[in-house]
Amino acid sequence: MREHLMKILIIGDGNVGKSSFVNRYVNGRFSQSYKMTMGVDFSLKVLQWSERDKVRLQLWDIAGQERFISMTRIYYRGAVGCVVIFDVADSTSFLSCRLWKQDLDLKTMLPNGQPLPCILLANKCDLSQRAVSADNIDKFSRANGFVTWMETSVKNNRNVEEAMGYIHTEVVVV
Ligand code: GDP
Repeated sequence: MREHLMKILIIGDGNVGKSSFVNRYVNGRFSQSYKMTMGVDFSLKVLQWSERDKVRLQLWDIAGQERFISMTRIYYRGAVGCVVIFDVADSTSFLSCRLWKQDLDLKTMLPNGQPLPCILLANKCDLSQRAVSADNIDKFSRANGFVTWMETSVKNNRNVEEAMGYIHTEVVVV
């Protein structure tokens, strides 16, 4: 059995559901008041990748950020994939995704010179009041080099596994 370490970044504005997403994916739980410790934190999930490969998935969540800030390269170092999350009811968090993606692309590159595979998640799609249309998200996702985008509801456990599954298919395990 071979073991690999895989670092995936979870970025986006504060309050969009990053910690909830990680908590749901790793622990299978959702809590209205769940809050991780402040600062950069990571959770670990061990996956059977294939018959011969086991992956220790490290999810790096920047907890406690209210707005976009340029991250240090140390935070990004060694990452092989990224999840950018915004809140569909909050247009500011959507606009910030451009900055998050630009910052990421500026500071990261795969060993083969390609940008990190990055998926865009429109979270809280259980909410009825929407600030961003699917059409807008779709255009934005293409224009900014995301591999795909998905609507998620961490609350209703919609597309959380699917989003991470998509990342797995994009990430190359060496
Ligand atoms: P973070 O600051 O990006 O890590 O966001 P949190 O994970 O702390 O979530 C912020 C708030 O949004 C919390 O009150 C969560 O319970 C709530 N939340 C997270 N995901 C969803 C969702 O899919 N739907 C709804 N309605 N609320 C959510």
